[in-house]
Amino acid sequence: MTDLPSGKAVVAGVAGWPVAHSRSPRLHGHWLKRHGIDGLYAPFAIAPDDFERAVRGLAAAGLAGLNVTLPHKEAAFALSGRADETARRLGAVNTLVFGPDGAIEGRNTDAFGFAENLNDSGVTGSGTAVVLGAGGAARAVVLALQSLGYGPIRVSNRTAARADSLAATLGPGVDTVAWAGRAAALAGAALLVNATSLGMAGQPALDLPLDDLPAGAAVTDIVYTPLETPLLAAARSRGCRTVDGLGMLLHQGRPGFHAWFGVDPAVDADLRRAVAGDLLMGG
Ligand code: NAP
Repeated sequence: MTDLPSGKAVVAGVAGWPVAHSRSPRLHGHWLKRHGIDGLYAPFAIAPDDFERAVRGLAAAGLAGLNVTLPHKEAAFALSGRADETARRLGAVNTLVFGPDGAIEGRNTDAFGFAENLNDSGVTGSGTAVVLGAGGAARAVVLALQSLGYGPIRVSNRTAARADSLAATLGPGVDTVAWAGRAAALAGAALLVNATSLGMAGQPALDLPLDDLPAGAAVTDIVYTPLETPLLAAARSRGCRTVDGLGMLLHQGRPGFHAWFGVDPAVDADLRRAVAGDLLMGG
């Protein structure tokens, strides 16, 4: 048991541009402390043009690995010598594991994080799912929904071509719906997922009447600032079960922590407070 890192500390971190907003240092810092691990987890602000050189340098310097956030997930996939199946299907990597010889392995744990968050919340249904959005996060969500047994999956995105491309790569069982038809697409749905950035603090609201959504449906939002988005508040007042997006962030960190520090850490109320206490207070 140690409170302060030694000269033998295992070092990992998160690479992003910008990175100052990242909650991953708090997430992994909490786990390191809880498990008394001789380790460090640091933020690395790396500009896109420097990404490959910086990552190879950090791997050569003996880091255990990195989480990768915007805008580097595709670049991280491109430089991974080996990538897991999810990363290959998504063409994106959010977790890098460095071998002792400097080998770089890429993984994508966003789909795992989304699925574990639903499981943790007791949402284990099947049936029709509606996904709004077709960006990187929406692709991970669709993959997770397929693994959980949802289907058909209706995807609606402002830019139709992006939804079509998602359906072409992740189908069959993925149908696209015009953005103008998103409210009507809720009829008969068991689950609604917002995987756009709409509803996030500082972004426009998601304009989505819920009249056609069955009251027995569950609703989840991958936006977690605020924790209760206007969509989740509206769904709750209809009597729908709601799941916020913070758990996805917390669970996606588990596989990386396990690979670097050797412990599969727990996601619990203490962790939620440590990572997002300001949001829990409504801040
Ligand atoms: P992205 O690739 O940039 O995709 C953004 C999505 O939002 C696209 O579908 C985009 O539609 C849509 N969108 C943005 N502005 C819009 C508007 N004004 N009207 C309609 N649609 C709009 O981003 P991403 O990586 O998928 O991330 C999406 C959100 O998920 C972000 O808020 C991110 O913070 C959050 N996220 C959360 C977690 C978590 O752990 N909880 C993990 C990953 C991401 P177009 O294609 O038409 O532009």
